[in-house]
Amino acid sequence: MKITPIIGLEVHVELKTKSKMFCNCSAEHFHVEPNTHTCPVCLGLPGALPVPNITACEWCVKLGLALGCTPNETSFFERKNYFYPDLAKGYQLTQYEKPFVINGKVKVGDQEVRINRAHMEEDTGKSVHISEYGQDLTLIDYNRCGVPLVEIVSEPDITSATMAKDYLLKMQQIIRYLGISDADIEKGSMRCEPTVNLKIEDNGEVFYTPLAEIKNVASLTGVQNAIEFEIKRQTEEFEKTREVKNSKNKTTRGWNAEKAQTFLQREKEGSADYRYFPEPDIPHMEFTPAQIEEIRISIPELPDQKIEKYKSVYSLNDYDSSVIATDQNFADIYETVVTPQNRNDKIKEFAKFVANLFLGAIKTHLNETGEELNQSKINPEYFLNLFDSVQKSEISSSAAKQVIVESYQTGTNPVEIAKDKGLIQVSDTGALEKMAQEVITANPKAVEDYKKNPMSIGFLIGQLMRLSKGSANPQMAKEILEKILNGN
Ligand SMILES: [Zn+2]
Repeated sequence: MKITPIIGLEVHVELKTKSKMFCNCSAEHFHVEPNTHTCPVCLGLPGALPVPNITACEWCVKLGLALGCTPNETSFFERKNYFYPDLAKGYQLTQYEKPFVINGKVKVGDQEVRINRAHMEEDTGKSVHISEYGQDLTLIDYNRCGVPLVEIVSEPDITSATMAKDYLLKMQQIIRYLGISDADIEKGSMRCEPTVNLKIEDNGEVFYTPLAEIKNVASLTGVQNAIEFEIKRQTEEFEKTREVKNSKNKTTRGWNAEKAQTFLQREKEGSADYRYFPEPDIPHMEFTPAQIEEIRISIPELPDQKIEKYKSVYSLNDYDSSVIATDQNFADIYETVVTPQNRNDKIKEFAKFVANLFLGAIKTHLNETGEELNQSKINPEYFLNLFDSVQKSEISSSAAKQVIVESYQTGTNPVEIAKDKGLIQVSDTGALEKMAQEVITANPKAVEDYKKNPMSIGFLIGQLMRLSKGSANPQMAKEILEKILNGN
């Protein structure tokens, strides 16, 4: 029996525009007094007219373009009718027939996930469940009702829970690079609904298990766990009955993070149940080719492009390249230090040197303090000075790691710090020869040992290091001692 999971993801992203999708209310709803950012439009009062937020529409197109989608020539909003207390109007304004953008793709590792569409819609309010006056009560906060939401629908090209996680991380990176949302899964500004079923091949027969859409997954680990649970559940279900109901019947399942289980919520209604129809109060929307072009050129260099550049221009490896590109701020600052103009002849060594410091000592420091990398504390000149000193063997690589964090904190040149701390290695041959001679004279026994066993030179090197108070370049110390001891 061969089992292949078929996983698609619907991702909702709240845009960080100033105002809501169809009214002038502030879109801010975290830590805000409930029901203070509301008006007749977002409360769905009779006669109120929606006016689309153009910035939000442009950002939706921008995201689509970044995902390689094609804009539709014309788009329009539709009413999706359903009743729920947090949906004030009794319908949600969304795009169904004609989303803003269609047919894109995202690279996830070595694979590609096709994007079916990205469309614009509005968020719902928030239900808050409390226990008070001896009763369980549900309160509704409409501050979130009408906040711009982009929905990105993938094709079911994802084949494992890990790949789903990588897809979400990639999506999050791209959205953050575009600066259109903080895309925080834990906070709820990025939400995800996986759709899972299985292709089962057994004795020449092929079965498809019914589709399950999983709701209320509120963390990245949750997404992974929910998908893994669902794969296991559907496999067991199939093994028990070997009966496959119509796989077109989609069921909706909730995710219980505490129990780490999905549970049946409802047998899914089809799109007909939503009675989609065009919103009569908003005209069709069209972006001209010139407007699309303007949006396209506003897209910054994206993670994939940065990774490609680091690999081809700076010869960084896959791992370093992708870790640097994970965070735009981090990547941009790295690039202010490593520019092709810097140490042109040794650009690859310099790029690797800086990458090691950024990903090692500096990143550790940032993790410890919980800070973001701060451009004003990074002086490209200092990195060049430090690089040159290491190249000349004046400062060891491990000393460079030590001083760079202090330099970052204090704004002092790391080479100066190394001098103060006595971390400058003596590579002056004359001075080292003098000290080596002194060590040899003072340790006749060790010299005898060396003649019998050259491996015992470590002791003499140690003496030389001590005499130089640790400042001798160990490699040179060894070479000079050998030269004198071997009499050449
Ligand atoms: Zn409003």
